[in-house]
Formats: sequence, C-alpha cells, structure tokens
Amino acid sequence: MNTNLLTPEKDPMGHALTDYLNYGKAGKLRVFSTLFEEDEIPVKQLFRKPEELPALEQTALQLAAGNILDVGAGSGCHSLALQKAGKKVCGIDISPLSVEVMKQRGVTTAKQINLFDTHFTGQFDTILMLMNGSGIIGKLENLPAFFRRMKLLLAPGGTILMDSSDLRYLFEEEDGSFLINLNDDYYGEIDFRMQYKNIQGESFHWLYIDYQTLDLYAQQNGFCTELIQEGEHYDYLVRITQI
Ligand code: SAH
Repeated sequence: MNTNLLTPEKDPMGHALTDYLNYGKAGKLRVFSTLFEEDEIPVKQLFRKPEELPALEQTALQLAAGNILDVGAGSGCHSLALQKAGKKVCGIDISPLSVEVMKQRGVTTAKQINLFDTHFTGQFDTILMLMNGSGIIGKLENLPAFFRRMKLLLAPGGTILMDSSDLRYLFEEEDGSFLINLNDDYYGEIDFRMQYKNIQGESFHWLYIDYQTLDLYAQQNGFCTELIQEGEHYDYLVRITQI
C-alpha cells in the first residue's frame, strides 16, 4: 500500500487548487482513465461552498460529531463547513500544495498525511471520506488494510461516513440487464491519471464500490454498515461502525 506524499512536480490537482486560490480561476484539470473518456474536473467544483455541497455531503456534515478527521480534504471545503458549524476537524491530504491551500483558506488543523501511513495515529469520533471517498482505498484487495487503519484511528464508538457510487450503470444493456464479466477485475476498480498545464500526475487506483460489496467486506473485517442516503445516480452515503 502506497504511504507516500505527492511531490509538487507530480501533483496536477495541487497546482490547479493553488492557481484557483490565487487567481480566482484555473486552467483545465484533465482526467484520463481506464474506463471513462478523457474528462475534466471543473476546479471551481473543488471549492464548493457549504450551501453548494450535494445532499449526501450535507447529510454527512450534519452527522459528523466530536473529533472529526476529513480524509483527502483537498481545498478543505468540508473542513471549512464543519468549522463554520462550530465543530472540531483535522483535514489531511497527501498533497502538500493542497494542504497549503487549506491553511490559507482558514482550516486551522491541516496536515500532510497519507491515511495509510502507520505513523499517523489519533482517536477520531468521525472519519469523513467524501466525494467518492471510497476512491482512496484504491482496490478491493486493500479493504482489509483500510479497516485495520480505521480500527487504529477510531475512538471507541466512532464512525466512518463515506460516499461512493455503484458503477454498474455503465454496463447496463438496453433491456435493463447488466453485462458484467465476473472474470474481470471488480468493475469499480479504475485507474486514473491527471494533468494540469504541463504537470503530469502518476497513475493511481481509485475504488468505486457498490453498497452490498462494501457491506460484505465490512462484516468480514469487524464492522457493520448502515445505508444512510441514496443520491440521484447510483451514489450513496454509508455509515460504518466497528462491531
Ligand atoms: N474531499 C475533497 C477532495 C477530493 S479529491 C473534496 O470533496 O473536494 C481526493 C483528495 O484525496 C485529493 O486531494 C488527494 O490528494 C487526496 N488523497 C488521495 N489519496 C490519499 C491518501 N491515501 N491519504 C490522504 N489523502 C489522499
């Protein structure tokens, strides 16, 4: 499991966030993947204000309580919304550039940390993983390692709030059935690479996971799940608690 931080030469998103913070606009943040056509992340979307957050994320913020960890906090939109609501939050990210952006935007506790780095310890009541937060887990085979990390980072009675999407809609046939080859890798395991101006990022694994599969892995690793809310497009928010 990769436990590194990003270096600025290989951090397109960090540069895009920095430009947007400094100039109020940014160039194209291009995304290449093994499944989708070449795409673009609107950088403005990574700076969404509390009232612009999608419904699932709003619910997660309302449920977040106690000592909160915002994993992969990016520009800090969730951390800032939580602070505004008077809650205590620590934002972490593997991108030193993004952590600088978070700090400049007023996130009081922002740290350069890889979630999987075992040197990082803490006792959090809520661990937030939002904007397809399951992505950071990378692959199904990393789920046991992920749950081991969670056991070490959660305070007694603590919960994980995570959103994800079931990508099965990409395999839907005209008659409504789904054509998924079970001999292939799990259909939600995608490789992505980003580019901003001339800065090329390394390719990375990103996991989209359907609720049933997540629930199964959670149970096998000493956790139980609760489906809190479903979004409009195969997306959902789940609460995961240690048994
Ligand atoms: N949560 C933010 C940003 C989502 S993009 C938002 O909703 O706007 C995902 C973020 O996760 C990126 O900033 C990326 O640098 C960070 N990230 C990826 N892997 C990580 C890891 N292992 N530990 C911590 N942060 C990670």
